[in-house]
Amino acid sequence: MDTLNGVSGFDKATFTEAHLQEPPVSIRLHPLKSGSIEMNTYGTVPWCAWGRYLHERPSFTLDPLLHAGAYYVQEASSMFLHSMVQHLFPNATQLKVLDLCAAPGGKSTLLAAALDTSCLILSNEVIRSRCSILEENIVKWGYPNQWITSNDPKDFGAIEGYFDLIVVDAPCSGSGLFRKESLALNHWTDNNVSLCSGRQKRILADIWNSLKENGVLIYATCSYSPQENEEVLDWLATEFSATTIPIPTDAYPGIVVSESDNHSMMGYRFFPDKIKGEGFFIAAVRKTQATNPLKYPKTKTAAENKGVLLLKDKLQPDAWSCMENAEGITALSSAHRQDYELLKQQLYFRKVGVSIGAITSKEWIPHHETALSIARSHDIPQVEVNKETALRFLKKEALESLQLTKGWYLVCYKGLALGWIKALGNRINNYLPKNQRIRMELPSELNNEE
Ligand code: SAM
Repeated sequence: MDTLNGVSGFDKATFTEAHLQEPPVSIRLHPLKSGSIEMNTYGTVPWCAWGRYLHERPSFTLDPLLHAGAYYVQEASSMFLHSMVQHLFPNATQLKVLDLCAAPGGKSTLLAAALDTSCLILSNEVIRSRCSILEENIVKWGYPNQWITSNDPKDFGAIEGYFDLIVVDAPCSGSGLFRKESLALNHWTDNNVSLCSGRQKRILADIWNSLKENGVLIYATCSYSPQENEEVLDWLATEFSATTIPIPTDAYPGIVVSESDNHSMMGYRFFPDKIKGEGFFIAAVRKTQATNPLKYPKTKTAAENKGVLLLKDKLQPDAWSCMENAEGITALSSAHRQDYELLKQQLYFRKVGVSIGAITSKEWIPHHETALSIARSHDIPQVEVNKETALRFLKKEALESLQLTKGWYLVCYKGLALGWIKALGNRINNYLPKNQRIRMELPSELNNEE
């Protein structure tokens, strides 16, 4: 902790005291799905209208609304990204956005909620084993304009001058999480800080070319170390043409504004003794370097077949463009089709638009993504269930108690879809993806709940 002496805003006595307290619990509500949440909240996160503090940490896994995407569990400091995006891009449409280090999806889902749905958001995660949780969270959040790639930062270098906004929530030494995750403390060393700082610079160098001229880079860490924060910004301003972007914080006493030594790059520091949240650093930088935007390839998209047209009524009317692959049909906004053709030349996509499923000679076999998508048609048959049945569905159990005529249904809890079932007359098949099922035992008192 003594290594933090001299860091702007660091006060050893109050900082130590804060680390003896339990961290606050907070969630961020989904703008379109959170109407039926009944949680014991006690206030809004000052810099994010969708952020709420909770009195205590419930068993989130046993709340079907979490699985429906009604909210995302996120620590409060990092929600400052919301305030920044609103300040930097008020009422913006059609932005191209990259969230470079996206898993498990906190910043990504925040970006989807904060930006207009005409924007294209790429959520990238280089570590393949972390892509599944990212995908699960993004599918629950349900925005068809949010796609997933799994690429190394250097793969983005070839996409010259493309992105209006790049968020780099960099891998870091994690000192800001000491209170929340005691394991972070075990892994923290001076040497690790230096290694992280080097890696952070390499990541920024790798993606810099893909940012537009006048585009914005938002850089964040959950570290207190100047080596990983202000010094990285100074390095960026020395190596490339970049200027700092001040963000108003007058309304939020407790956020510490810092300036780097050489280029006066401004950063925003969050200390757990000064605000209700964990340690966090965030800064916005404008690229002032001339960059030639990449030209879109002239591509002809394949003519849409009958099956594709049939599937369009599974989504709300919009200008959809459909693609067929081995797994079925994917719909993406027509406005983003050329982006896909351009980006697929460089990037490995895990999710594009919304998968609507496959069509056989007999029927439509819906994809799980459609159930949770905010773009899904409202005219699809649904069955509303109580909490116990919702949790049994989420455990991927058979739902014998439901009396349904044959066909496909959305299973809904408090009006929000959780996934698909198919009633066959004598039994009901549960189509929740196996890897997303709840593994914990359900408490016995659930049997009496409505
Ligand atoms: N943005 C995420 C969120 O809000 O949920 C948290 C991101 S976490 C701080 C940093 C991420 O960077 C991790 O998912 C990690 O897998 C990824 N990462 C690790 N090494 C990386 C590298 N060399 N380049 C890019 N990303 C990396």
